[in-house]
Amino acid sequence: MFVDQVSVYVKAGDGGNGLVAYRREKYVPKGGPAGGDGGNGSNVVFKVDEGLNTLMEFRYNRHFKGKRGENGMSKTQHGRNADPLVIPVPPGTTVIDEDTGEVIADLTKHEQEAVIVKGGRGGRGNTRFATPRNPAPDMAENGEPGQERNIKVELKLIADVGLVGFPSVGKSTLLSVVSAAKPKIADYHFTTLSPNLGVVDTQDSRSFVLADLPGLIEGASQGIGLGHQFLRHIERTRVILHVIDMAGTEGRDPYEDYKKINQELSDYDEKLMDRPQIIAANKMDMPNAQENLIQFKNELEDDIPVYKISALTKDGLRDLLFAIADKLETIPKYEKELEETDDTVVYRYQKEEDPFHITRDPDGAFVLYGQRIEKLFKMTDFQHDEAVQRFARQLRGMGVDKALREKGAQDGDVVRLLEYEFEFIE
Ligand code: GDP
Ligand code: MG
Repeated sequence: MFVDQVSVYVKAGDGGNGLVAYRREKYVPKGGPAGGDGGNGSNVVFKVDEGLNTLMEFRYNRHFKGKRGENGMSKTQHGRNADPLVIPVPPGTTVIDEDTGEVIADLTKHEQEAVIVKGGRGGRGNTRFATPRNPAPDMAENGEPGQERNIKVELKLIADVGLVGFPSVGKSTLLSVVSAAKPKIADYHFTTLSPNLGVVDTQDSRSFVLADLPGLIEGASQGIGLGHQFLRHIERTRVILHVIDMAGTEGRDPYEDYKKINQELSDYDEKLMDRPQIIAANKMDMPNAQENLIQFKNELEDDIPVYKISALTKDGLRDLLFAIADKLETIPKYEKELEETDDTVVYRYQKEEDPFHITRDPDGAFVLYGQRIEKLFKMTDFQHDEAVQRFARQLRGMGVDKALREKGAQDGDVVRLLEYEFEFIE
C-alpha cells in the first residue's frame, strides 16, 4: 500500500588510468619508473534528507553517473579520487536491485548513507609493477570500471495524518480540495500512487502527507471488509483527523458517529486513543449544521479541538490545515521507526562475481564473458606488451585456458571477449 516506485540507472565513476612514465636522468635513456596511479572513480551514494517527502526528484532524473578518477601522472603523482555523487532521498527509501530483486539498502534515518554503486579503483602506474627482475616495467593498469546497475527506488509513504469518519461524511472531498493546492503534486500523486494519498501544502508552506482511510466501518476492527487494512495504516499516522458530517445527512447523528468511529479505533488498538485527534465538523454549509454543532459540542466530553469546515465551499480549511501542521510540529516524525529499526543499513551490493563463462558463436568461435574477466580486460592497457603478457597470465591463472581446452578449443581457434578477438594458442 502507499508505495511509490521509480526505476533508475546508476553508474559509478571509472577509476583513472595508471601511467607509464620514467624518471628523467641525465645520460640514462630510461630512469626508474615514475608513473603514478589513477584516482578512484566516484561512488554513487544515497543519503537521507529528512526534509524530503517524495521521490519527486527521480521523476525528472533517472540516470546518475559518477565522475571518473583522474589519470596517474608523472613523478609518481597519483590522480585525484573523484568525489562521491551524493543523491538525497527521503526517509523510508528502499533501494532494490532490479535484476536480482535483492534489497540493496533500506534508508530510514536522517543522514544515513548507503553506497549504491562503487567507483572503480584507479589503475596502478608502472612504478607499482617494479620488481627486482623488472625494475622499469613498461606497463600500467587501466582504471577499474565503476559498478553499474539498474535499481528500483521505493518509498513507503507514511501518512502523517489519517482521515477517519463514516462513509459519505466528505473525506475524499476534503482530501481532493486540500491537496489540489499544488496541481503538479496532486497530479503526481493521484496518477502514480494510491488515489487515497495526498501531499498537503498549508498556505504558510508547511506540508504533510494526508491519507484517506476509506472503508472504516463498524466491524473493521474484527477484520470485516477492507477496514482492517486501513486501520493498519492509521497505526503509523501521527494525527487523526476525524471528519464528521455535521449536517446529519441521511438521519445521521454526528455525536453517535463520532463515538462509533472511536470505538472502532480503540477496539483495534487501544493505543490509538492516545493519538492526537482533530475534529473536522464538515458540511457546515448545510442549513441545520450550525444547530447540530452546538448540540455536538455540548455532548463532547473529550478535550478535542473542533474546526468548522465545508469541503464543498472550502470555508475554514486554512485554519484547519494550520492547526494540523501546528500539531504535527509537536510530535516527532517516525517515532515508531526509531524504536523498531536499528542503525544498520542493509547493503550487500557486491555479490560473488562469476569469473567467466564460455559459449560458442554460430561461426564456431569461443565467446568469453563474465564480470571478472571483462573487468580484467578493461583494466589492461593493450598498448604495452608487458600488460598484454600479464593479461595472458591472469587468464591462465583464472583457468580460462584449461576451460577452453576442455570445451574443445584448438590452436588457432578464435576466442572473443567483448568486441575483441584473439587466437587460442596452446
Ligand atoms: P467520503 O465517503 O467520506 O469520502 O465522502 P465523499 O467525499 O465521497 O462525500 C460524500 C458526499 O458528500 C458527496 O456527495 C460530496 O459532494 C458531499 N460533501 C462532501 N463535503 C461536503 C460539504 O462540505 N458540504 C456539502 N453540502 N456536501 C459535501
Ligand atoms: Mg471516500
